[in-house]
Amino acid sequence: MTISLARASRATGLPRGLLARQVTTSTDRRTRKPLIDLKPEIREKAELLSSSWKGTNASGGNTKNYIGGEFVESKADKWIDVLDPSTQTLLTKVPETTSAEFDAAVDAASTAYASWRKTSVLTRQRFAMELQHQIRKHSDAIATSIVLEQGKTMADAQGDVLRGLQVVETACAITSTLMGDKIEVSKDMDTETRRLPLGVCASIAPFNFPAMIPLWTIPMATVTGNTLILKPSERDPGAAMIIAELCERAGLPPGVVNIVHGTVPTVNAVCDHPDIRAISFVGGNRAGQHIYERGTKNGKRVQANLGAKNHAVIMPDANKNLALNSIIGAAFGAAGQRCMAISVAILVGEAKQWLPELVERAKKLNVNGGFEKGADLGPLISPAAKQRVTGLIASAESEGGRILLDGRHISIPDYPDGNFVGPTVIEAATSMTCYKEEIFGPVLVVLEADTLDDALSVINSNPYGNGTAIFTQSGATARKFEHEVEVGQIGINVPIPVPLPMFSWSGNKGSFLGDISFYGKNGINFYTQNKTITSLWKAEDALGSKASVDMPTMR
Ligand code: NAD
Repeated sequence: MTISLARASRATGLPRGLLARQVTTSTDRRTRKPLIDLKPEIREKAELLSSSWKGTNASGGNTKNYIGGEFVESKADKWIDVLDPSTQTLLTKVPETTSAEFDAAVDAASTAYASWRKTSVLTRQRFAMELQHQIRKHSDAIATSIVLEQGKTMADAQGDVLRGLQVVETACAITSTLMGDKIEVSKDMDTETRRLPLGVCASIAPFNFPAMIPLWTIPMATVTGNTLILKPSERDPGAAMIIAELCERAGLPPGVVNIVHGTVPTVNAVCDHPDIRAISFVGGNRAGQHIYERGTKNGKRVQANLGAKNHAVIMPDANKNLALNSIIGAAFGAAGQRCMAISVAILVGEAKQWLPELVERAKKLNVNGGFEKGADLGPLISPAAKQRVTGLIASAESEGGRILLDGRHISIPDYPDGNFVGPTVIEAATSMTCYKEEIFGPVLVVLEADTLDDALSVINSNPYGNGTAIFTQSGATARKFEHEVEVGQIGINVPIPVPLPMFSWSGNKGSFLGDISFYGKNGINFYTQNKTITSLWKAEDALGSKASVDMPTMR
């Protein structure tokens, strides 16, 4: 079976020419397989998930919506297959939520808001504390669901859960962080600020962090007194469903968090529903720009984290071992499907000589199914993603780049049908497609620069501003880099400088749309609106005070 180049081009966003050699090869792999084809020990994990959790199913059944505290079967007439990216086994089907179901979710969130907003901050803090306990207790189940549906390795999936858990833990400090201000502005007159919730908020998540991204928004929205509609990625909804059940176990009242599944129609319903006050989006540029425009046009507050191209600069004075290992981990970990992956290395001056060693170290990475012991990276999310990535590698070849390590034809004996691409290193130039496009695969583009200024100029000319890193042993060089680079998240000898959630996400330029970013202080600002109250209570009017008979002086 073949799919047309036009269809593949639409699905992957790549020109037909780039796809010509790719399309026919992987379409057979799209045939979904029954659960029985999974290795017995993995099938057992899938079946255990299905029998242990109310909303998710990993053995071929349907994923439910979570509306008003109930896990409900959708009446959708359109369902999306979720396939294990290592084997193409059908794990679950995700509904394209109907309009009636979507409206029911918003109604449940509106009803719950009326009472949830009035709960004390201590009640909401208690929920966050219980949730952190529940997630810690069940992190293996969440991580297992992630490995099955998303394909990343078990250790990496545990990291996905942990980075989300850290937001829950920070949200436990809401009793301090939600405090407003108060000052006596004139005699007996006070002005105070109260930070109040917005109402029903929505969160739209990408496939690459199925636990972490929902956990960027669930705790922050709820501890500030809002209610939430979450739309997980239709490609890996399981982690969000387990988290929903953990919210319930942590004592969250029905309707405070609701989950609806689907694709563009469900997202558009989020953008258009008049009762939704704010939207958090994390994902690619196309969807993000659409949601930002449609949501803000409808008067909603929108924060949108988008795509990225993250550069690491390796100075000749760097600690070579640290620099090379850091770059390899950040470029190829999670098969490059991280928005903060290092996708470009700029070797400055004599650091150019380290390129062969970089390639040698990358070759040693173990590509395998995510549950396999010793696996360093797993498959890409879908056959379409694999086509897109291999197409971009091919584009480098035809545009004059040098492929120093080619992961396109890797074969994994136990997983012949997986969407695997091995670590790939391409010596390229900034004019090439493989540099200009976000690849979102295990591909490292290597550039050379004579000086730090040249490297800075490359980075600052790039439209994205999510993350960057420098490897050097000179404090002065690091300081110059930090001051002059126009990127929002900077690592100095740190490859993936995602700030912990006591800080806020700070990707910028083309990697962010909106004014107020995720979690930390900004997260609280995003989910609250201020009320200022100015009150006058004259002390002289206190009961028992005597009338003044002095000449009024108006002071
Ligand atoms: P995606 O944009 O395809 O999907 C994200 C969400 O948007 C999903 O829930 C999906 O259903 C919805 N969606 C997809 N296309 C849509 C459309 N045309 N209209 C409306 N909604 C649509 O992203 P993805 O492939 O799931 O995730 C990978 C992308 O996300 C990469 O570009 C990556 O850089 C980015 N990302 C960014 C960050 C960040 O913090 N900057 C974090 C993670 C991922």
